[in-house]
Amino acid sequence: MISLIHSRNRLLQNKLNELIKQAKDNEKKQELYEAFGFEVIGANSPEELRNLLLSDFVTRFQLKDVVLSFIDRHQDAERLFFGHDEEARINYEKRLLILDIVKDAGVIASFIKEPLLGRAVFEKYCWMMTGLITRDQIKSAAYLPLLRSGRIIGAMLLLSHDGNRFPQGVGTLFLQKLSAMTAIAVENCLNQQRLKEISYQDVLTQVYNRRYFDLRLNDEIARSIRRDDDLTCMFLDVDHFKKINDTYGHQAGDQVLISLVSQIKNQVRACDIVARYGGEEFVVALPATTLQIAHEIAERLRQTASSTMHRVQGRQFQISISIGIANLRSADMFQQRDEQDCNIISTMLLARADKALYRAKASGRNQIAVFTYDTELL
Ligand code: GH3
Ligand code: MG
Ligand code: MG
Repeated sequence: MISLIHSRNRLLQNKLNELIKQAKDNEKKQELYEAFGFEVIGANSPEELRNLLLSDFVTRFQLKDVVLSFIDRHQDAERLFFGHDEEARINYEKRLLILDIVKDAGVIASFIKEPLLGRAVFEKYCWMMTGLITRDQIKSAAYLPLLRSGRIIGAMLLLSHDGNRFPQGVGTLFLQKLSAMTAIAVENCLNQQRLKEISYQDVLTQVYNRRYFDLRLNDEIARSIRRDDDLTCMFLDVDHFKKINDTYGHQAGDQVLISLVSQIKNQVRACDIVARYGGEEFVVALPATTLQIAHEIAERLRQTASSTMHRVQGRQFQISISIGIANLRSADMFQQRDEQDCNIISTMLLARADKALYRAKASGRNQIAVFTYDTELL
């Protein structure tokens, strides 16, 4: 009798130990998810958030993959998430799905507001996994909606190679907490980035302003040096613009600037950076572009600008522009490699393009000048 009680006690004790261990494991798991959630909330940019969710999350929680889809209501999420980071685009394109509210209306309608675990995820959301190289190794999945003020802004799939990782019917409270934090973070980061973009934009012409250009040029120079690539910068300035304002009015002057910007944008690539540097002065950075190609582009721009007829209240007039060009390869500091040097190089490159512009002006305007050491002597 006593031995029976003893063995029952032992059984109960074992069961209790197992439950305590499970509770401790759960607590640990919850703590890990919560800590990660706080990191997500603290992300400072869409880029940081993208890396946290699609890369750190996978390694830290031993997942096979994560897919994040986002409903792009303002048609800017792709640009904000990827910026000009081509490498990230290649790495994450299949795992960060930017959904168009019109084109992807069908799949957006399949999002439900509750988490979903188990086989049903594969049936309902297999479209989110198309393109994953890990697809064949995925054995269990969790679907988490991203909700803000009761509205679905996107969804996340957590994917595991362990068939028992996300079984149907298991508690999802900590996953729900994480997805709530993710939704807040995604929305916050995108809003912050939108605000930043507005402060980097010129109100009249809608191109970047000088502040943005200076920052971006540093990045582009660093990248060019890293890849041993070329980069060319050009300054464009409207000739006798003051006279245009004086003769046809300030508004006509404004229209000239708007029209010139659209001509510039039509002639350059999407990866080139066009900015308004000052009143009637624009700057263009052309990554991976030789001096010769840049000169051809500048010549086309000069010709287009001078052959365009502007009309104001029944009167017609033409303008001309002068362009100064400087090239990174011909900058003698090309060999320097750290970040501070990029600052020096970009300042020098711009100063050289500006000097070349000055020469174009001094030689009679409506022409292009390339920086050479003779220019420096002027
Ligand atoms: P140059 O050929 O030497 O470049 O002569 P310029 O008259 O073009 O140059 P200047 O620097 O003397 O005058 C530039 C003028 O541009 C003066 C300024 O009033 C005008 N300006 C600056 N910003 C704007 C703007 O946003 N709109 C208009 N309409 N004019 C502007
Ligand atoms: Mg001018
Ligand atoms: Mg000027």
